[in-house]
Amino acid sequence: MNQAELTSAVDRRRTFAIISHPDAGKTTITEQLLLFGGVVREAGTVKARKTGNYAKSDWMEIEKKRGISVTSSVMQFDYAGKRINILDTPGHEDFSEDTYRTLMAVDSAVMVIDSAKGIEPQTKKLFQICKMRGIPIFTFMNKLDRDGREPLDLVNELEEVLGVDAYPMNWPIGMGKQLAGLYDIYNNRIELHTDEPEFLELDADGELKESNPIEEESVFQDAMMEVSLMKEAGNQFDEAKIATGDLTPVFFGSALTNFGVKTFLDAYLNYAPAPSAHKDEEGDVVEPKEEQFTGFVFKIQANMNPNHRDRIAFLRICSGEFDRGMDVTLKRTGKTIRLSNSTQFMADTRENVETAVAGDIIGLYDTGNFQIGDTIYAGKRAVQFEKLPQFTPELFMQVSAKNVMKQKSFHKGIKQLVQEGAVQLYTNYTTGDYILGAVGQLQFEVFQFRMQNEYNSEVVMQPMGKKTARWIDPEQLDEKMSSSRNLLVKDRFDQPLFLFENQFAERWFAGKYPDVKLTAKL
Ligand code: GDP
Repeated sequence: MNQAELTSAVDRRRTFAIISHPDAGKTTITEQLLLFGGVVREAGTVKARKTGNYAKSDWMEIEKKRGISVTSSVMQFDYAGKRINILDTPGHEDFSEDTYRTLMAVDSAVMVIDSAKGIEPQTKKLFQICKMRGIPIFTFMNKLDRDGREPLDLVNELEEVLGVDAYPMNWPIGMGKQLAGLYDIYNNRIELHTDEPEFLELDADGELKESNPIEEESVFQDAMMEVSLMKEAGNQFDEAKIATGDLTPVFFGSALTNFGVKTFLDAYLNYAPAPSAHKDEEGDVVEPKEEQFTGFVFKIQANMNPNHRDRIAFLRICSGEFDRGMDVTLKRTGKTIRLSNSTQFMADTRENVETAVAGDIIGLYDTGNFQIGDTIYAGKRAVQFEKLPQFTPELFMQVSAKNVMKQKSFHKGIKQLVQEGAVQLYTNYTTGDYILGAVGQLQFEVFQFRMQNEYNSEVVMQPMGKKTARWIDPEQLDEKMSSSRNLLVKDRFDQPLFLFENQFAERWFAGKYPDVKLTAKL
């Protein structure tokens, strides 16, 4: 590829994640998008991974399930001249730090909300990670074919609960059985709720150009009124604020009945950014269209085949072009690695990838070379991208080796898995006992399995339940602050923190030590 070809290939890329609380409709909307992309697939392929009824203790099933989820972790397709990469952020029992880190590899996010439920806990958590990155966030209010909450209520909730300004791109005309269409503010038209897409034109004042029976319906009159109210008193459309994630454009629709999804996708692609620049550790910027190939590993997934120890390292390409068989340098070790066995994700198939460019995600078969956060590059300039943030765990487990004679393999396994980013490790300040922290239960299960299989170390785990982790300045620490309601531990960088039982315990602590400042890392 010459520079002009690289530039146009990178400009075509749109890489994003869909975030939502389980059951809001992420899978359904993803399927619709893939259909628009003309990706030939059996109906329900994305769904298949969700329905597997598996016993949590049965690793083979988890492996199988995770195997399938590898293929649907990244979905690539072409639509309207763009090459789209959708990254899956699993909900349900798959939820883990990987889910958060995946958001480090996208350039924008789509937030799907169930219009009957509004913002739910997982949506909020994922939103906060996107907000921290300052990437554009687009909102899809789903399930309009059912009776849901008042649209105004839903939009206000975005501002109140998430603290983000909202701009409705369209507005529902009725809901549930009364659903008559969408008042499309952005395109200045009415989209009728009919089997085939049908649109009515509006004039410069937003009134119907030609009269239509819909005018007689009260839901239409209500929608007209609400829209004119919003035009007067609501937020202004502001591209700069969209780009920084300070304003979220809001679309209404129904993924299940495919209403408003295409309207959403078309408008979204107008504002979703092409691959963005990334900063290296020195603060220097690596532009996506630079010739030199660079990328970072944001996720490592144990592979399907338990007979081989191979894993897949997910790489976000940040600049330049990837070619199969190229030699790259792994910055952390200085080692040269030939990338001959890599994979691209095309909907439900995995193919060997020959070329890919900035913005794309490729999977590298890994026999133990890579860690999460690793940078690789080709060419002369040594690049190490900024560290990926650490996420505050919420679930904790006490962990020890079952067989005291096998301490060596136990320690080796823990050390490596923690470095890789599979789980967080803490030690009890006084007893030195190991405590694992995770954001999702699956991380513990994967940890236990891999300790056994890769390090021949059987571990005993004792759940400690949900806790709130809060760091304390070592200068302010007095070991006497630890009580039955808060456990004092050290993180792997020897920084002290408390694990609080509940909010009550945290408030109690704050009352007792008003001068002590505790911090939550995100
Ligand atoms: P996910 O957990 O976010 O991936 O949610 P799914 O896409 O699996 O959807 C959860 C449930 O909601 C499924 O039963 C879907 O059929 C249903 N669903 C999704 N979108 C809609 C919609 O627009 N309208 C209605 N009525 N149901 C929907």
